[in-house]
Amino acid sequence: MHITVAGLGVSGVSAARALAGLGAVVTVVDGGDSDTHRTRAAELAAEGISVRLGDAETLPPGTELVVTSPGWKPASPLFAAAAEAGVDVVGDVEIAWRLRGPDAAPWLAITGTNGKTTTTQMLASILSAAGLRTVAVGNIGTPIIDVVLGDEKYDVLAVELSSYQLHWAPSLRAHSAVVLNLAPDHLDWHGSMAAYAADKGRIYEGNTVACVYNVADPATEELVRAADVEEGCRAIGFTLGAPGPSQLGVVEGILVDRAFARNRHQQAQELAEVTDVNPPAPHNIANALAAAALARAFGVAPAAVRDGLRNFRPDAHRIEHVADVGGVAYIDDSKATNTHAAEASLAAYEPIVWIAGGLAKGATFDELVARSAKRLRGVVLIGADRALIGEALARHAPQVPVVDLDRTDTGAMSAAVREAARLARPGDTVLMAPACASMDMFANYNKRGEAFAEAVRELAAESA
Ligand code: ADP
Repeated sequence: MHITVAGLGVSGVSAARALAGLGAVVTVVDGGDSDTHRTRAAELAAEGISVRLGDAETLPPGTELVVTSPGWKPASPLFAAAAEAGVDVVGDVEIAWRLRGPDAAPWLAITGTNGKTTTTQMLASILSAAGLRTVAVGNIGTPIIDVVLGDEKYDVLAVELSSYQLHWAPSLRAHSAVVLNLAPDHLDWHGSMAAYAADKGRIYEGNTVACVYNVADPATEELVRAADVEEGCRAIGFTLGAPGPSQLGVVEGILVDRAFARNRHQQAQELAEVTDVNPPAPHNIANALAAAALARAFGVAPAAVRDGLRNFRPDAHRIEHVADVGGVAYIDDSKATNTHAAEASLAAYEPIVWIAGGLAKGATFDELVARSAKRLRGVVLIGADRALIGEALARHAPQVPVVDLDRTDTGAMSAAVREAARLARPGDTVLMAPACASMDMFANYNKRGEAFAEAVRELAAESA
């Protein structure tokens, strides 16, 4: 088969190699033509894979299937050309799904606007605690095609899927799946909220055991209703409140299961304590319940849910406690790159000195600020779009002191931390949850988080 792979990134290269290894005639196309591109192209050429650089638009003649990298927009001219030629366009997840062997491991799949990586890792931790051979894949870690074709045998996969990957994976059928939450994000890619939701909802198509939804986010339940699932597949809700039948929830500090417990109409099965969740912030307890629901759908015992949650450590820059200085806690949530994520971490503390700002990506801040206003001791604004947040604060929280930092140099984060320290009182939390992307000031959110942690350590050293 003649296959065109769109994109010379990590997933494109993995797809190209896997497909060529199976005997396909592969051409990789990429609009870039830098030295990095050429080096990679030369490596692939040595393996018999053609690479066309500097033209991302025209369909190579003879193409029978296009395999796209997740970042390519559906409106890309290459795909229009493919449609015109009657050629299918699919993504790496679809290829992985189609290449699974007959006795391949089932997939437990996770999507949502926020919390995907955390929940997927929690799930993998729970499955491991149950003695199952598993790995967290998809939008994280090893490219999924490599895992599916690799020699390592798994009992079950914990699969994180982005809305882009779901868009390009029409025949994926998970054992069980969850949409954690739905808030506007990546709308420039999908075109509209409805299209974004529809792509997320594809994760439920053909589920065999459980479609897990968020009781607090009715849009996720609607997606379950709209899905065409296997006979007998159940809808399972998770909630931070007391669970009804067919739900997991929280009762007096205990995570409980009223969905998979044997006697679920009369009683709830205890799974873990809230304090077993790292960190026990409300949105993270929701992530833990979602992971627990998928694990329980797969038949995992309650004790393994508890052990898996206890063993789990979140990745860096996700509500990471950096240090206490002068009785004030400093928390790095650099990964809060949109308003929905920032709202979740702002809900976890009080009073807060909030460090916010960066690239807004078209977002508005009125709702976030209005809902969080009463928790704010003060705000330090950084970054290119800080005026947008400043205006929302003026409208909804005029009494809250705001420091507007008009600098984007490398020392700016250090200045922001100092200003925050000045505003904070003992017992407060300084929370860097910017609600914005970082690329105006930093290479990525990791670098932004590191700059924050560095500044906090400086502060600690001075006050020691
Ligand atoms: P994703 O993989 O979806 O980007 P992560 O697990 O990496 O999600 O978390 C990203 C950020 O989103 C975290 O730093 C936190 O601020 C926020 N977050 C995590 N879980 C949730 C949730 N369930 N609801 C809202 N925000 C969340």
